[in-house]
Amino acid sequence: MLFSKMLIPTLRETPQDTDIVSAKLMIRAGMIRKLMSGFYEFLPLGLKALRKVENIIREEMNKAGGQEIVLPLLFPKDLWLQTGRWNVYGKELFRLKDRKESEFCLAPTAEETITDLVRKEVKSYKQLPFMLYQFGTKFRDEIRPRFGVMRSREFLMKDAYSFHADEADLDVYYKQMYDVYINICKRCGFKFRSVEAASGAIGGSQSCEFMVLADTGEEEIAWCNCGYGANSEKAESLVAVSYQEEELFDMQEVLTPEVCAVSDVSKFLNLPYEKFIKTMVYLADGSPIVVLVRGDYDVNEIKLQSLLGANEVVLADEQTINFVTKSPKGFAGPVGLKDVKIIADISVIEIPNAVTGANKKKIHIKNVNYNRDYSADIVADIRKVKKGDICPKCKKENLKFSRGIEIGHIFKVGTKYSKSLNATYLDVNGKENLIVMGCYGIGVTRILAATIEQSHDDNGIIWPDNIAPFEVVIVPINYAHEQTKEVTNKIYRELSAKGLDVLIDDRDERAGIKFKDADLIGVPYRITIGEKGLLNNAVELKSRAVDKNAIKLLSPQDVINEILKIYNK
Ligand code: ATP
Ligand code: MG
Repeated sequence: MLFSKMLIPTLRETPQDTDIVSAKLMIRAGMIRKLMSGFYEFLPLGLKALRKVENIIREEMNKAGGQEIVLPLLFPKDLWLQTGRWNVYGKELFRLKDRKESEFCLAPTAEETITDLVRKEVKSYKQLPFMLYQFGTKFRDEIRPRFGVMRSREFLMKDAYSFHADEADLDVYYKQMYDVYINICKRCGFKFRSVEAASGAIGGSQSCEFMVLADTGEEEIAWCNCGYGANSEKAESLVAVSYQEEELFDMQEVLTPEVCAVSDVSKFLNLPYEKFIKTMVYLADGSPIVVLVRGDYDVNEIKLQSLLGANEVVLADEQTINFVTKSPKGFAGPVGLKDVKIIADISVIEIPNAVTGANKKKIHIKNVNYNRDYSADIVADIRKVKKGDICPKCKKENLKFSRGIEIGHIFKVGTKYSKSLNATYLDVNGKENLIVMGCYGIGVTRILAATIEQSHDDNGIIWPDNIAPFEVVIVPINYAHEQTKEVTNKIYRELSAKGLDVLIDDRDERAGIKFKDADLIGVPYRITIGEKGLLNNAVELKSRAVDKNAIKLLSPQDVINEILKIYNK
């Protein structure tokens, strides 16, 4: 491939409206261009890298017995109504109508369509289990499209779905797919962690996310040296404070004139946060509930939502707070509350002589004790984990926190979709059963961005060997020079013949510019061919990743052998 013939519009300057290094570099390297917010064009170089990722995933899916298919990108409203997701998915779903006013959505994920396909085609247990997968464009009207193709509104996902006769069979396959995902991450060269996750809009009993470690990651991971790891949306912890035995006093109202936030009342009363009950009023699918967490914790709305099985949990407006607590915002507490469901975090009920709002303007109550002065309808883990919390697995070490980019997510979906769409099979005894499903997604476009986020320097991208759009770039200092051209073409022919992607920078540019571009687009190996070197039968070999300043002088044949050895060809 000749550089001069390829559309690789590299840029010297950093593009203006990009917010993350991978997006900047993808644009500067001429891999992508932005059409509009959240929509990107993939240029030849970008697509070549994307295909490399796709092929790694395809090979691993095929090894796991997957069969590749292609589903339409437009889905009928009716199927989405049957599973209830037409309403649940909300504004993230792109919706449209055809000329007959029939309604559709653009695929954000394909459980409905695949379950519909399978319910029509599977009749007997003899057809199970199997796995189907596709590389499909997905559309999600993200509230905040950002970070280039990392969080875009149109992206490429590999989505896979497995179908089983029972949970036990799904359990076995889920483990196998877990290993497949670990392999994909390794082959992409990631530093990563797999973590327990909340199942979100897809639903199901167990799910695991694959997180590429990067400071710019949008996700927070809580982990421990013992092997525990969870998305902090889902992470559990042991309550870190144990209280001294103390006498339980009678409740006592205290005037707290200008203060209502825990931080202020804590200062005012000179008591630590751990002595406070934070009382929050929420609306769960429109109904008010009261949620209690210890003063040093925050409510984890995702845990709360899944505990209640609610579609939506949001903080209540002031009017609802007034109605529930009969007092202005800022003075809520559980004592004396009636006709409202109270959900307490487990950290709350252990506090001796706690402080909380009195449901009266400017007043708090001291010495509040669980069971004696208030109770809760549900006591559960509904708090966000935080620094200092103890690992729930080894029960010894403090949890550590890292940031990560979620590149893949696998779910045990169970019968959620087969139930609503009535996808069944007949078992050995001729009895009808629901098909049990697993669901496995990986963001192909996001993997590219995550790779760059993890692997770059001031000069540009540093592709891992497996994903590089080109494995080798040959830089002839003067391609018009006959012997240079001959040697360039020989190396090109021999490496290409072994299946390597080789780029010849044949442009009539200064060597410095060609070197800068080679570094920017991140090609792992650069071979430089100059007239002077050829006088001694020598060309230069330089690696982008390893020992960046080291240049080896080799004969053309040795350089070919060396590269073939590196790539095991
Ligand atoms: P996130 O929490 O980042 O929004 P998600 O939980 O919505 O992700 P899934 O529905 O599990 O994502 O989709 C599977 C994979 O698709 C994700 O692991 C991610 O790699 C990719 N993905 C999801 N949303 C986007 C997006 N807006 N842009 C690019 N890739 C995405
Ligand atoms: Mg999402």
